[in-house]
Amino acid sequence: MHVLVTGASGFIASRTIEQLLAKGHRVRGTVRSLAKEKDLAPLRALPGAKERLELVQADLLTAGSFDAAAQGCDAVLHMASPYVLDAKDPQKDLVDPAVMGTESVLSASAKAGTVKRVVITSSMAAITDEPESDHVLTEADWNVKSSLERNAYYYSKTLAEKAGWAFVESRKPGFDLVTINPFMVIGPSLSPGINTSNQLFVDLLSGTYPGIMNLTWGFVDVRDVASAHVRAIEIPTAHGRYITAGETISMRDVVELLAKNGWGAGNKLPKLGMDCGAGDFAVRLSSYLQPKGVGSYLRTHVGRVPRYDTSKVQRELGLSFRPVAESILDAVKDLAAQGHVQKRPSP
Ligand code: NDP
Repeated sequence: MHVLVTGASGFIASRTIEQLLAKGHRVRGTVRSLAKEKDLAPLRALPGAKERLELVQADLLTAGSFDAAAQGCDAVLHMASPYVLDAKDPQKDLVDPAVMGTESVLSASAKAGTVKRVVITSSMAAITDEPESDHVLTEADWNVKSSLERNAYYYSKTLAEKAGWAFVESRKPGFDLVTINPFMVIGPSLSPGINTSNQLFVDLLSGTYPGIMNLTWGFVDVRDVASAHVRAIEIPTAHGRYITAGETISMRDVVELLAKNGWGAGNKLPKLGMDCGAGDFAVRLSSYLQPKGVGSYLRTHVGRVPRYDTSKVQRELGLSFRPVAESILDAVKDLAAQGHVQKRPSP
């Protein structure tokens, strides 16, 4: 297949392109700037890239920017979207590019006339604003709580996915739409930057957290998320939304896993136990001193355990998930190799 991938140099997109090329597909990737050769080098070095990867420029905020890029493509993976917890102007920096970008990519796909399927990288953020310990999330759930003031990134992802489904409903284009809704994506990166999710491990190891908080994350390995996207274009019967997530793990268990595997030495793993009622209170109180996006995240997540049903993606796309410990240790090893955290002393 000839596949268009938007935001090609991103954390998830570059791993997806790696898998697409390995499977013999032709890829046209969009990036915001072709001038940032350093960011593009890992893509250009992928096996098969010389023969089957083309990079072109496109911006989510420029009308018609994806029209030429979509020409002649069979499938589109729309992955580009700003992923930051803190934005100065959430409407301009998060919502506009997410929503306008989705509409622009879908419109380009419709105009191309050759596209049979578009897959949007949506998010668990479009499923829920905050984990609810007494509710198992499924693809039927929608985030109804986020706003420009509360978890604005989540809001941008919800509006973008809704815009996608509304486009298909009203325009009836010649393609069908699938969304992949991953939880927190972690793992080894092809590019040297630190993804917002992997930043968590940098923060844990560099002493940013005052203590072990009552936080539980749903993680999924970037290589599994990439595989979900590839399967979503290869399997004709794929349809609707797919919650994509491996096991949940608490901050305490992550800290213990890292310590047990030698990452405590030379780093500053949190020690103080704040994963109790009084700790939750302290975290909520101090969250008001954090940047707005981080504070909002802490208040809506502390003390809560996400619960979700991933049977649809396993059954319909045949996806299985790596053990969470493997993903965490691979992520940290990679962060150390890139110089973002202290290397583990050799045993
Ligand atoms: P990255 O930040 O690595 O990738 C985001 C990509 O979006 C980058 O390539 C970036 O381009 C591009 N982008 C941002 N703004 C624009 C714009 N105005 N025009 C064109 N491109 C733009 O993040 P991820 O790989 O993690 O995210 C990829 C997708 O996955 C996003 O849609 C994100 O919301 C979603 N997602 C991520 C999760 C995670 O935990 N990482 C979880 C669930 C969903 P540039 O390099 O030029 O900045």
